Amino acid sequence: MKVLVAGGAGYIGSHCVRQLIAAGHKPVVVDNLSYGHKAAVPDTVPFHDVNLGDSVALDRIFKNEQIDVVMHFAAFAYVGESVTKPLKYYINNTSATYTLLDSMLKHGVKKFVFSSTCATYGIVKSLPIVEDMPQAPINPYGQTKLDVEIALKALAYGQGLSFATFRYFNAAGAAEDGSIGEDHNPETHLIPLAFGAAQGLRPALQIFGDDYPTPDGTCLRDYVHVDDLSRAHIAVFEKLEQPGAALFYNLGTGQPTSVREVITAVEKVSGLKVPVNYTTRREGDPPALYANSTKAQTELGWKPKYLSIEPIIETAWRWHERKPKGYQDR
Ligand code: UDP
Repeated sequence: MKVLVAGGAGYIGSHCVRQLIAAGHKPVVVDNLSYGHKAAVPDTVPFHDVNLGDSVALDRIFKNEQIDVVMHFAAFAYVGESVTKPLKYYINNTSATYTLLDSMLKHGVKKFVFSSTCATYGIVKSLPIVEDMPQAPINPYGQTKLDVEIALKALAYGQGLSFATFRYFNAAGAAEDGSIGEDHNPETHLIPLAFGAAQGLRPALQIFGDDYPTPDGTCLRDYVHVDDLSRAHIAVFEKLEQPGAALFYNLGTGQPTSVREVITAVEKVSGLKVPVNYTTRREGDPPALYANSTKAQTELGWKPKYLSIEPIIETAWRWHERKPKGYQDR
């Protein structure tokens, strides 16, 4: 398949590009590099520095490249920022995505794979989370993702779009060879911050609350390897052959892991000490979030290769050890 990867220079998108190549597909990347890294995209992959809100540029790409499937990873994903700058999120995550959908449909491209998030569920009444639980996001980031999910349903019904939406839990880890990995600016995620603190490149890691109703008092999350996420995106291709397919899947390992357990794994794998400070809870952090991914496993034959935190952290360490400052390290 020839696959247009929107956001292919970002963390998850760039890993997916490599998995697509490994599976014999042909990725074409569209990314405006607002957060992505050109160095994360192999030189052999066609690259378009284009904003998804630019319908003229998108029309040109769809006219010139015979695209079979579009994958969308090109979203802003800082929950806190989405609260203080909601329009930034609505303009990029929703409006620009609609422009992309409009352009692809105009050119007869009817298969779409969308990165969604467990943040669309909001505060859940029970765990693990299953796909048919009510979705009630508590921040604009989650709302923009849900808005697109709703629009996709309408497009499947009304215009025969076939789509799959993947609701990710906590994407983590790096390519097995350590060639690409996680590098956000600003960085807010636990694992890269823990490595940065251990390597002496960042201040001590702040632990946001140790008084949660969890076994060790820190929050529980479901860390899923970025390559496992990517493989699900490819496994769904066959299902998209059905016109009007409207598919929703959680992607997680189902394994709840605490902040302290992540730190222990970082220390064990790297042999370094993570300096920490305990501080108050971060606003909007639910005590526990983990997935039931049975649907993806049953319907797509998807099976995460990485089932626990330590092997995930081992891949992350290969990246952070090689590139302590991320892509700016040449
Ligand atoms: N966390 C933390 N210190 C940090 C960053 C994150 O204690 O500097 C905690 C956070 O409260 C959450 C978990 O680590 O419980 C994972 O946070 P992250 O931002 O990586 O992902 P999120 O779950 O918010 O998507």
